Formats: sequence, C-alpha cells, structure tokens
Amino acid sequence: MALPDADAWRLLDLAADAIFVRDAGGVITYWNAGAARLYGWAPEEAVGQVAGRLLGTRYPEGEAAVVAAAEAGGWDGELVQLARDGRRVLVESRWVADIDADGLLRGFLEVNRDITARRAAEQRVRRLLEAAPDPTVLVDEHGIIRMANRRAHGLLGYDPGALPGMAVETLVPDGVRAGHAKLREGYFTDPQPRTMGASVDLAARRADGTEVPVEISLAPVETEEGMLVAAALRDVTVRRQVQRRLEDQAAALARSNAELERFAYVASHDLQEPLRKVATFCKLLKEDYGGRLDETADMYIDYAVDGALRMRDLINDLLTFSRIGRREGAAEDVDVAAVVATALRNLDALREECDATVDVGDLPTVRAERSLLVQLYQNLLGNALKFRAPGRRCHVEVGARRQGGEWLFWVADNGIGIDDDKGEQIFEMFSRLHARTEYPGTGIGLAICRRIVERSGGRIWLDSRPGVGSTFSWTMRT
Ligand code: ADP
Repeated sequence: MALPDADAWRLLDLAADAIFVRDAGGVITYWNAGAARLYGWAPEEAVGQVAGRLLGTRYPEGEAAVVAAAEAGGWDGELVQLARDGRRVLVESRWVADIDADGLLRGFLEVNRDITARRAAEQRVRRLLEAAPDPTVLVDEHGIIRMANRRAHGLLGYDPGALPGMAVETLVPDGVRAGHAKLREGYFTDPQPRTMGASVDLAARRADGTEVPVEISLAPVETEEGMLVAAALRDVTVRRQVQRRLEDQAAALARSNAELERFAYVASHDLQEPLRKVATFCKLLKEDYGGRLDETADMYIDYAVDGALRMRDLINDLLTFSRIGRREGAAEDVDVAAVVATALRNLDALREECDATVDVGDLPTVRAERSLLVQLYQNLLGNALKFRAPGRRCHVEVGARRQGGEWLFWVADNGIGIDDDKGEQIFEMFSRLHARTEYPGTGIGLAICRRIVERSGGRIWLDSRPGVGSTFSWTMRT
C-alpha cells in the first residue's frame, strides 16, 4: 500500500489509534506510533513480522473469515490480542482492504482502538447492576437501554440479554408512552436521584403486553460513555393489593361506624321521650299511691322508679357519647384553668359532700373545643371525688406540663385506685369495676373521655395503685 509521500504516513502517527498495514500474506508493512504505544513493539521490530502471530490475535470466527469479510468490503469487530509484555488487550478493530487498479488484493489497513479499560469499567457497572436488589435498567440519553440486570429481564418477561439495545419506551405502558420521551429528555437536563410511583400508580409493560405495577427510582450514573440513567423498578403488586384492601376495609369501617353512630344517636335520642314518660308516671305513682297499696306494691314501685332513673342516666350518657362522634365543633383558644373552674362548679354538690381539696396548678391555653374540655375535666374530677378512699380526706391535683411537641395533662387523686391490669379496660364503654350499689355510674364516663382526647389526636391513660390513688394523664398537641 503506497501513500503519496512519507509526510502523509507521518500524519498517521498523530492518531491515538493503533494503525498498521499488512500485506495479502499477513506480513506487516507499516506500523504507526499508536501501534507501538499499544503493543510495545517499535516499527522496525514489527515491520516484516506476520501480524496474527506477533499479536497472538484471537479472531472470533477464525482469521480466514475476517479476511474474507474485509476483502468483501470491510470488517469491524472486537479482537483479543497480546502486547509485547504479555498484557491482554481488547480492541475494537476495523479492517479495510487495499485493492489495486487491477482488482488484486494488496493488503489491509487495520485500525485498532484499545477498549480494555472501557470494557473493564463496563464490567464493574454490570457487576454492580447484578448485585442491585431491584430489577434495574441503564438507559442512555437517546432512550436506548444499554444494560439491564437479570432481575429486570425476569420482571419484564424477556430472555436474558434481550433488553440492551431496545428503546426504553417499549417498557412504558401504551397510554403514557407518547409523553415519555419528553419526560426522559427533561430528566437528562437535570438528573437528580428521585423516586416515582409513591403517589401515582406507575406500571411497566412486560414482553407479553401485560402490565406490572412498579415504583421507579431514577439516578444518574457517570460512565466511560457519558451519563446514563439507572432506573430501578420495584414490583409493588403485593403492596398495591394490600393497600387497596386496606383502603376498602377502611372505607367499609368508616361506613359501618357512621351507621352505628347514627343508630346510637337516633336510638338514644328517640328513647328519651318514652323514657321520660315512664319515669314521670312512676314517680307520680309513688307520690300519689305510695303507702296506699301494700308493701310489695311499694317495693315494686321503688324498683320501677330506680330502673327508670338509671335508664335515663344511661341514655343521657350514651347520647353525649354519640354526639361527640357526630359533631364537628369549631376549635378555639381555650383557657384550661377557666375550663377546670367551670367543671368544678358543675361538681359543687359532690365536692361539698366529700369535703375534698383540689389543687390546680398552672394550666395553658390550648386550641380545642371548649365544651368537650369541660366534659373531659368534669368526668375525671367527678370520678376522683366519687372513688375517694374511705377514712382519708379526698385530695385531687390538676396540672399540665409541656413534653416534646405536646402538652401533658393530668388529674391525680388519692382515692381507692385500680389494679394495673384493669387500666385499659376501664376506658371501654360500660366497663365498671364496682357494683352500682357501691358507687353509682353508667360506665360511659371514661369512654367519653377517651373519645374526646383521641378526636384531637391525643392519648389518654391511667397510672394507678390500689389503695393509694389514680392519675389519669392525656396528651394534646401544642
Ligand atoms: P362510671 O364512673 O360511670 O362508673 P367511668 O367510665 O367514668 O364510669 O369509669 C369506669 C370505671 O373505672 C369506674 O366504674 C371505676 O371502677 C373506675 N374508675 C374511674 N375513675 C376512677 C378513679 N379516679 N379511681 C378509681 N377507679 C376509677
């Protein structure tokens, strides 16, 4: 192969690639500086040698096949060769045939680019990709999948190795494919790690056309070939099913709660009227006919009056309870000290009866529904007075302090106390630890308290020791 002049050959020394010429018999006739650099042989050592032997070249389908293809119009592919020091080099090789005017083959120009480092880097990325816990694809800025791990092939139903080279849009469901290229380009202009699919339902399209619900995390990855985007696809089929089931259950629960609420409200409201009638006439019966019938009749009348009054208390408390669930009262700034004063005033009679001392500490102003707070304190203070211990003066302490981002409130007494294991149970509706003859009540008071506290996002609990006293505490957001 003859070039116009030696100067032109010199220009080839400027190329970074290894360039050499071999004649039709495979003997090297030209060797540029790039070849000397890559393989370690100086031009005078290389020229005259048989190229395939000098470089220990391993041809993918044999040397003859490469030569034939090159002769027919050119060949390119990857070759593994050996440098002088025994180092293995991987090259991207391009062969062009030199055919003279008579159509005779004179030799080949072989241009080889060292891709050993690039391939090693690629393999590192591939290993990382395979180690990734999620199915992941690496996509370039033209939307072509450059790599994909085994998990990605599995999730998307492709044969191993089928994904690289495909357009990533193939994996996008039909309905959203049209807009995807724009989103992808947008991402490449400002590539930040981010997760999609937590709030919107995303899906990936499988090889068979079906869709699999996914959450997708995107992250830019710098590689030898420029920036790629790693898209990790997390299969959220099970999570979405569970979520949907939970949503359905929550909706069903809310519905049945609302129905129950309504039932309790209507029942307690509508029962008031006939009950009032029964109570009134029982009382009239007792007043007008007491002592005029025999003793047994008097006893029956007493039972009836007592039953009617008890039912009235129950129904009133039930109504209060169901009202708390129904009403959407407005929150306002409420001075808790004033609330406690009101609750204590409402309990005046009971307080006098038991000669109690009540210590009220510093109390804050909070955003709440005033009437509910009065109810809460009235129930807790009422219980503190009611469940006083015989033989010592009843003493009650009311206080509050800030704790983290919330207020902690308490009402503490020195009353009869409760066993530890009953601490939860007493907040249930109709749950009482004492006989009605011992301490009057309906067993609804603490259920009302819990409802009031939980409605405002707080918790209520009891610390108590039998014979020593009880402390009811609850939290409220500041
Ligand atoms: P009621 O007071 O109408 O019985 P509550 O729901 O207010 O209903 O209270 C439930 C039960 O919890 C009471 O019957 C009582 O056994 C127990 N209890 C409540 N407060 C106290 C207290 N301060 N000391 C001791 N026991 C209490």
